[in-house]
Amino acid sequence: MGRPGDHMTIAISPEDVLVVVDVQYDFLPGGSLAVAGGDEIVPLINQLATRFSHVILTQDWHPADHISFASQHPGKAPFETTELHYGTQVLWPDHCVWQTRGAEISHDLKIPHAQLIIRKGHNRSIDSYSGFQEADRETLTGLAGYLGERDVGRLYIVGLATDFCVAWTALDAAAGGFDVTVIEDATRAIDSNGSLARAWTDMEEAGVERVISREILG
Ligand SMILES: [Zn+2]
Repeated sequence: MGRPGDHMTIAISPEDVLVVVDVQYDFLPGGSLAVAGGDEIVPLINQLATRFSHVILTQDWHPADHISFASQHPGKAPFETTELHYGTQVLWPDHCVWQTRGAEISHDLKIPHAQLIIRKGHNRSIDSYSGFQEADRETLTGLAGYLGERDVGRLYIVGLATDFCVAWTALDAAAGGFDVTVIEDATRAIDSNGSLARAWTDMEEAGVERVISREILG
């Protein structure tokens, strides 16, 4: 596979799928959980999407009293952690509350041929970073079943944020037997307490490929 510095172009097949993670207003500058530079990747994702005949979007989608919100845990502040029934949970500012503008997928994302939107985090008592399964590691979103039924090729993952929803989606995809590539410059990270370095280590150990967009776009 290509690596930064060489000039081999990766051929995208009609079976390959672009998975665009959580490009929503609350994760973009001005949003309640803004990822620095999140807006910078939108034109690049639009450009990449023209190379794929199969595109899937994910959408963080929470009730107003979602358990991942620090506001639901008296005495806790955003970015602190707490122990929930399924393990350690990072607590976030309220974000992506369903039917609010913050939860909307950016209107600057121009991918009319996207075929599926997976909404995740709709269960009040379970967070869901991954597009495949919720944070209890049991409740499935159905995405693996969809992809299996469509007999897809490699999954290319872009979006927000690299170290949470992108990484968890990539790790679950790899664990599910899919070939997975993350297009690094079409993601941006939160990078809280070393989370970005840890995410890349985990992804590399899981066999997730790491490329930059130029290797695809030429
Ligand atoms: Zn969320």
